[in-house]
Amino acid sequence: MQYVSTRGRAPALNFSAVTLTGLAADGGLYLPERWPTFAPDQIAAMRGLPYAALAQKVMQPFVGTCLSADRLGELCEQAYARFAHKAVTPLVQLDQRDWLLELFHGPTLAFKDVALQLLGLLFEEFLAREGGRLTIVGATSGDTGSAAIDAVAGRENVEIFMLHPKGRVSDVQRVQMTTVRAPNVHNIAIEGSFDDAQAIVKRIFAEESVTARHRIGAVNSINWARLMAQVVYYFAAALQLGAPDRRAAFSVPTGNFGDVFAGHVAARMGLPIEKLVVATNVNDILHRALSNGDYSAGDVTPTASPSMDIQVSSNFERLLFDVGGRDGAALAEQMRGFDASRAMQLTDGQRTGAGERIVSVRADADQMSLAMRRAWEESGELIDPHTAIGLHAARCVDLPPGVPMVTLATAHPAKFRDPVEQATGLRPGLPTRVGDLFAREERYDVLPGTYEAVRDYIMDHAA
Ligand SMILES: *Cc1c(COP(=O)(O)O)cnc(C)c1O
Repeated sequence: MQYVSTRGRAPALNFSAVTLTGLAADGGLYLPERWPTFAPDQIAAMRGLPYAALAQKVMQPFVGTCLSADRLGELCEQAYARFAHKAVTPLVQLDQRDWLLELFHGPTLAFKDVALQLLGLLFEEFLAREGGRLTIVGATSGDTGSAAIDAVAGRENVEIFMLHPKGRVSDVQRVQMTTVRAPNVHNIAIEGSFDDAQAIVKRIFAEESVTARHRIGAVNSINWARLMAQVVYYFAAALQLGAPDRRAAFSVPTGNFGDVFAGHVAARMGLPIEKLVVATNVNDILHRALSNGDYSAGDVTPTASPSMDIQVSSNFERLLFDVGGRDGAALAEQMRGFDASRAMQLTDGQRTGAGERIVSVRADADQMSLAMRRAWEESGELIDPHTAIGLHAARCVDLPPGVPMVTLATAHPAKFRDPVEQATGLRPGLPTRVGDLFAREERYDVLPGTYEAVRDYIMDHAA
C-alpha cells in the first residue's frame, strides 16, 4: 500500500515510511492511495475475534508487506495486553437505542492509548530495521501527551518533546505527563492555546534547519498509523451490534477530527455505518463548516472538555480531500487561502460528499452537564465531559428504527473529576492502575508560545 499527500506534491511513501513521518513535505497529510474494502462475508467472518486478532485483520491491508500477518498480530497482542479490560474496548448499553463504547481502559485513561500503545511499538520496530533515531515533536490538548509519553518513555532510539497549553489541561492530565521520569521525555508548557502549540509543531516539521539534523516524527493524529488503529474499534462495536447485517451509527466527541475520520475510513472499507455524528463543544468551527460550509477559525474558548478546545482541526483536510474528488492541487490552493485569512468556504462537492454520512451537533456547557446527569440517573453510568458532549449530540439525531447509536466514550470520568462532580455530585476515584500520581514530583519547562522559543529549545535539548 502506498500513501499520498492531500496536497498532491510530496513523494508517495509505504507504510513504514509514513509511520516515521510527520507532515508531508508539501504541508499536506498522508492518506492511502485507495481504500481497501471488505465484502460482507469477510466482515461476517470477523465476528467473535479477540480484539488483537480483529485489529490485525482490519489493519493488514494498510500495512501491506511492511509487516507479516504474524508480526502485526504479535504487536497488537503486546499493545492491547496493557489494557485493564479483557475486551479492550467494551460496549455498554444505556437504553434501548444508545450505547457507550468505552475507549478509556488503557494506561492513561483516554482513547489515545488505543492507537499510541501500538504506535510506540511500530516506531521501535521500524527504527530497529532502518537504524537511526526519531525525535517526536507533538502538541497536546491533554490526552495525546500523556498517552504518547507513556508509549515511548524509556524506549530505544526515540525521544519526545511534548507541548501543552499552560494552565489549560486538567490536573490529572498534567501530572500524567510531567511526573514521568525518563531521560527521553521533555515536557514543555507554552503560554498560549492548543492551536498555538499545534501551529508551532507544524512549522517545526517544515523547518529545514531542524529536519536536516533530526528525523522528526509525529504522535498527533496527523500520523496516519494513529487513525488506522482507531478504525478497529468501529469494526469491533458494529460487529457486536450485528454488522454486516445491521447498520450502526456513531457519535464522536471531536477536536482534531481524527477519531471521527477513522469512522469515515471504516465506512469506506465497507462497514455499514448509517451516520457519523460530529459532536463539538462551543468551539464549533466543525459544526459551522458541516452545517453551512463556513470554515472560519475564531478564538478558542476554554471549556470543561479541553481535549476538544480546538479551532483548526488537522484531519478535516483529509476529509475534504477524500470527499472532494482527491484533487491535491485544488486543495493546496484552498488551504493556502485558509492559512492566510483563517477562513474558507467549503466547495459544493465537499459539502455534498461530507453530508452523505456525516452530521454535526454543538453542545454548550449546560447541555454537557445535563447529559452527564442523565447518564448517571437513568443508566447508572458516570461519563466524562467529552463523552457527555457526544451523548448529547447522539440524542439530537433521528435514526431509522432498529439502528443502534454508539457514543464513543473517549475518556475516563476520573480524568475530569471537577466537572463530573459538579454535574452529578459524585467525585470519581482514579483507578489504581495509574498509581500515586499526585505524590510524584513534576518536571516541565515553561516557554513563550512562539515558534523560535520552541525551535531553539529542541535544538538545544535533542540528543
Ligand atoms: C483527543 C480527544 C478528543 C478529540 O479527538 P479528535 O481525534 O482530536 O477529534 C475527544 N475526547 C477526548 C477525551 C480526547 O482525548
